[in-house]
Amino acid sequence: MIDWAALGDENVALLRRYLAIDTTNPPGNEIAGARFLAEVLARDGIATEIAESAPGRANLVARVVGDGSLGGIVLHHHIDVVYADRRYWTVDPFGGVVKDGYLWGRGALDMKSTGVAQLAALLAIKRARIPLKRDLILLATADEEAGSAFGARFVAEQRRSWLNGAEYALSELAGIDHDAGYRAPLGIIIISEKTGLPLKLTARGEPGHGSQPWPDTAPHRLVRALGRLLAAERPPRVLPEIAEYFRQLARVLPEADAAGYEDVEASLREPSFRARFLANRQHAALVRTTFAVNILKASEKINVIPPEAVAEIDCRMLAGDDPGEILAWVRSVIADERIEVTTVRTPKVPNLSPPDTELYKALADSLRVRMPGAVIAPGILTGFTDNWVFRSLGLQGYGWSPFVLDEGEYRRIHGNDERISVENVRLGARAYTEMLLAVAAA
Ligand SMILES: [Zn+2]
Repeated sequence: MIDWAALGDENVALLRRYLAIDTTNPPGNEIAGARFLAEVLARDGIATEIAESAPGRANLVARVVGDGSLGGIVLHHHIDVVYADRRYWTVDPFGGVVKDGYLWGRGALDMKSTGVAQLAALLAIKRARIPLKRDLILLATADEEAGSAFGARFVAEQRRSWLNGAEYALSELAGIDHDAGYRAPLGIIIISEKTGLPLKLTARGEPGHGSQPWPDTAPHRLVRALGRLLAAERPPRVLPEIAEYFRQLARVLPEADAAGYEDVEASLREPSFRARFLANRQHAALVRTTFAVNILKASEKINVIPPEAVAEIDCRMLAGDDPGEILAWVRSVIADERIEVTTVRTPKVPNLSPPDTELYKALADSLRVRMPGAVIAPGILTGFTDNWVFRSLGLQGYGWSPFVLDEGEYRRIHGNDERISVENVRLGARAYTEMLLAVAAA
């Protein structure tokens, strides 16, 4: 009923056009991307609404309606991309180039490819007139790469009706990791992301001349406080979903590396495993609240002892972390009442969607079809995505893509020569469509 070869060709053509639209943020200019999507959808009689959150900063919604017996699925992607430094690219990052079996361009993975796979699925389902029990809501947003104020957060605050009746939200940054060193491909479905609790430590003291220092100057107090913070070990906390992630990872890692990963919580009690595990930055960040001291400010002149010294710390929380408890812990390990500990902005409390919903199961099944033999695991991102916004509105949100990638491709995200294989784009349209039909067809 659906001509998959034709849909695959169409998806390649759509992605080439989309990649050729420069939506570098800043300034974003997402309106150009939104108009492209609107034009494509209009050809198949799908109405769209575009809302500009600021001049040129556009968000778009389109809905293919079901019978309403089950909740809708928001298929969202961000139109904006990060800056591409042309000097380091071998092709024009906005040329829509097809070369060596790949589509090249900024956004090829992050995340216009996912956006057009969602678009192609919507078009295919609409054309085939397949009755649905869930609404499918295509949502394209601005500004994900710079804080989402003009995008997902604008939609949440000012276009909430766009999400009416929705139960699920699907976004980005997952897929099948076909790493050469793995015993089997690993398919990841993102269920949560760590969120920031940016901290500011301010030490104040008597100013003076640099030629006559004393122990309690503001910078000296601050440095000692930071030393105590970095030396303090906050105990690891293994979420059940993270334990499951490592249990599945153990099935694909080379056997020599997998020891202990079947039960990370128990293994972390062994000093040798613990040291080895925590030495892996990514793994360590999945079981801990992290603190990165990234901004330090004190005197402007080397011979002036300043009245104030400030450190800003990029603290990241896992689901279940309590901002108030973390602040209290930081104050207790710093143990200096004269250092003020504050949050730079209102914390985003992390949220998580369970890996046992009907949609999660369909996502997992789809990955097994896309790559037979793949091991499937839930994942938590250490970085941030728009899905946090939609989960905070009560939707179950997952990051998912039907793409098979090796480690070399992942490194190009936000890097040089970002690309996606033509095969991924072709097969991705079908995989996305079939996955949606599995959960939404009446
Ligand atoms: Zn992205």
